[in-house]
Amino acid sequence: MSEFEVLNPATEEVVEVVALASADEADAAVDRAARAFPAWRDVAPGDRARLLRAFADKVGDHLEELAALEVRNAGHPVGQARWEAGNLRDVLHYYAAAPERLTGRQIPVPGGVNVTFAEPLGVVGVIVPWNFPMPIMGWGMAPALAAGNTVIVKPAELTPLTARRVGELALEAGLPEDVLQVLPGAGPVAGRRLVDHPDVRKIVFTGSTRVGKEIMQACAPGVKRLTLELGGKSANIVFADADLEKAAATAPYAVFENAGQDCCARSRILVERPVYDRFLELLEPAVHGVAVGDPRDAGTEVGPLISAAQRDRVASYVPDGAPVVIRGSAPEGPGFWFPPTVLATPDFATLPAWHDEVFGPVVTVVPFEDEADAYRLANDTPYGLSGSIWTRDVGRALRASRAVEAGNLSVNSHSSVRYWTPFGGFKQSGLGRELGPDALGAFTETKNVFIAGE
Ligand code: NAD
Repeated sequence: MSEFEVLNPATEEVVEVVALASADEADAAVDRAARAFPAWRDVAPGDRARLLRAFADKVGDHLEELAALEVRNAGHPVGQARWEAGNLRDVLHYYAAAPERLTGRQIPVPGGVNVTFAEPLGVVGVIVPWNFPMPIMGWGMAPALAAGNTVIVKPAELTPLTARRVGELALEAGLPEDVLQVLPGAGPVAGRRLVDHPDVRKIVFTGSTRVGKEIMQACAPGVKRLTLELGGKSANIVFADADLEKAAATAPYAVFENAGQDCCARSRILVERPVYDRFLELLEPAVHGVAVGDPRDAGTEVGPLISAAQRDRVASYVPDGAPVVIRGSAPEGPGFWFPPTVLATPDFATLPAWHDEVFGPVVTVVPFEDEADAYRLANDTPYGLSGSIWTRDVGRALRASRAVEAGNLSVNSHSSVRYWTPFGGFKQSGLGRELGPDALGAFTETKNVFIAGE
């Protein structure tokens, strides 16, 4: 059996040594989930709703415990970690309303009666990254369970602790054994086995575009259902007529929150030429104002990166001689720290940080000439997840919203995720949508039945 040392990213201390599931253990989990499926599918809708509400309440009752665990495991600032546990609770509540509202349709046809059924798929594998362990677990798991599927969650190697605790809370809330299983394991071993196992009917994968492509290929032979939430390189577009003070004051949080380890990070700031210099002037104090430090402190806004490897990767995007125009602060000493960093240069197109998903606190600021130039720059990426548009002109806001190729845009705001609304990516940022009412469709198969009238 292999093991993984889970570290506290703020101190580099070992939090726990976690056993990693083997491929055989993954197979056994799938067998249990498949056996649990028929009974869970047949639970009366009101009872399934009650169980999910009890699960949500249980998470709510343990919110502080879960948040504290994430502070230690992922280095997330405690205020943010509370939000994450709260998001998991809220998403469970939201989808607890679904079992009693999930209906088919009656469609008029000649010669008889035609009805459709929304059938659950069976066993669903939810593969989760390390950047937002609790919310992302919830976005896959909650609608899948609500629609009558059994679920196996495979957390990231680096962050298995909250997922494992949430699995225990599900049992305490009364969810039948094996309806939800949490399987800590290595991606290429346990994760890959879920992808390959013929009894797993659907995979929800959130993670890197590289692994997402691999999983998409592995799903092809079995035509396995698949939702992909992958990387991003989102643009924050600031027009000259915008509320510049607000745009500049909030821009650091749109990219540096979670130490930049956010698929929706606005890691490219595009500013209309006439206000470019003024925007940088306003950005400087805002970047210095970001509180980077001990994640246990309530006042901390940004913690460390998840691992030494991630810090080194981020550092490689800011080599000696990089065009750094603003550098925030970060603690010295133990912990995987990296300061908020702003790059700007007329040669921005030569910067790897302009093109790649850095997944760290690094942003590139670039001027643009007009609307067409802004949209060309914004779309000059294989990704299409998120983005912001800052303008006071309603017409321009609408034009920009249509022109930018991304699944989640916000105007005069950096909000990306609201669990009531669909979330997902254009282009290589993903496939399908999570959250909102439509996500249920990703966990059901439409069955059409015609009954002859004579
Ligand atoms: P990753 O792709 O390395 O790993 C994600 C998960 O997949 C982990 O649980 C890992 O163990 C597992 N995995 C790895 N290889 C596998 C394989 N061969 N088969 C099956 N499972 C495998 O990603 P990461 O480094 O954990 O997360 C960072 C990435 O996630 C970033 O690119 C980020 O943009 C993306 N992300 C996207 C969203 C979104 O909603 N679009 C949200 C969060 C993170």
